[in-house]
Amino acid sequence: RSRERRAGTVQSTNDSSALSKRSLAAHGYVSDAFAALLAPGPVRRTPLIHRGYYVRARAVRHCVRAFLQRTGALPAPTRAQILSLGAGSDSLYFRLKAAGLLARTAVWEVDFPDVSRRKAERIRDVPELCSLTGPFQIGDSASALCFESSDYRILGADLRELPRLGEVLDCAGLDAASPTLLLAEAVLTYLEPAGAAALIAWAAQRFPDALFVIYEQMKPRDAFGQIMLQHFRRLHSPLHGLELFPDVEAQVQRFLQAGWTACSALDLNEFYRRFLPAEERQRVETLEPFDEFEEWHLKCAHYFILAASRGDTLSDTPVFPP
Ligand code: SAM
Repeated sequence: RSRERRAGTVQSTNDSSALSKRSLAAHGYVSDAFAALLAPGPVRRTPLIHRGYYVRARAVRHCVRAFLQRTGALPAPTRAQILSLGAGSDSLYFRLKAAGLLARTAVWEVDFPDVSRRKAERIRDVPELCSLTGPFQIGDSASALCFESSDYRILGADLRELPRLGEVLDCAGLDAASPTLLLAEAVLTYLEPAGAAALIAWAAQRFPDALFVIYEQMKPRDAFGQIMLQHFRRLHSPLHGLELFPDVEAQVQRFLQAGWTACSALDLNEFYRRFLPAEERQRVETLEPFDEFEEWHLKCAHYFILAASRGDTLSDTPVFPP
């Protein structure tokens, strides 16, 4: 029963992310017409939350674009796939499809069955979303495959049950040998440390030509980090991988030891400074009145983006060049 109760609070983190992403788009930080179609009701987040979510969105986008660029340069008919773990209501598929970036790439998503089923039904009910997916099928309530179109599949499975996850992906036709981007945006933190470690090692064994991108919290030991950790413990679990992997160096080692052959990670202050053009930073910094600079920098210092790779296609050029 307590496992089920925990799954419920973990699933509700998706609603919170989805509302923040919706607010982010509504206030002009990112261009995303689909966030509002996938998440219910408008909510206005604070400028501080907008800025945090903005850097997160750009960091993930940077990695996704790097993957598409590398796989797009491969000779036809090589096909690539994006496998979003704990995808929730994220609109990645729709943004990429609308931008014409999925010509040779399919998107797969996994989340708890309830979350995946709700997303499939939402897509079915919103014509602007259906028109992008093309013809599709909705799975019945017993099926792990909740939504299936030619380039988009949404699966209901628990990331802690790896043999079952492998089976479900195989049955739905995922080709582990194709270049694959595994994306876990604010997800591993909700698995217990052993579960997250098993998932990272499972992915390294299963996908020989892959990029694994994660976005997570870190630095649990200072005052800000302690507040984050207490919040997490109250809502989710007494165990948290943050304590085992407290900084980017430890996170990189975690992937290298699990079988990934190259890995780099940076905190979001560094990402913002080094990977966003000055004009874009200026645009964003003038969108709303803002004076919480210290809080913003503190928050960005407590989150990182990491890209780990295996195999020829994805290891040759670093995702975060020096
Ligand atoms: N990645 C999405 C995003 O960034 O918008 C959603 C992030 S939300 C904070 C965490 C997601 O991970 C939720 O949708 C939750 O249901 C999913 N999740 C957490 N633990 C999971 C598990 N054991 N199996 C499947 N999904 C899980």
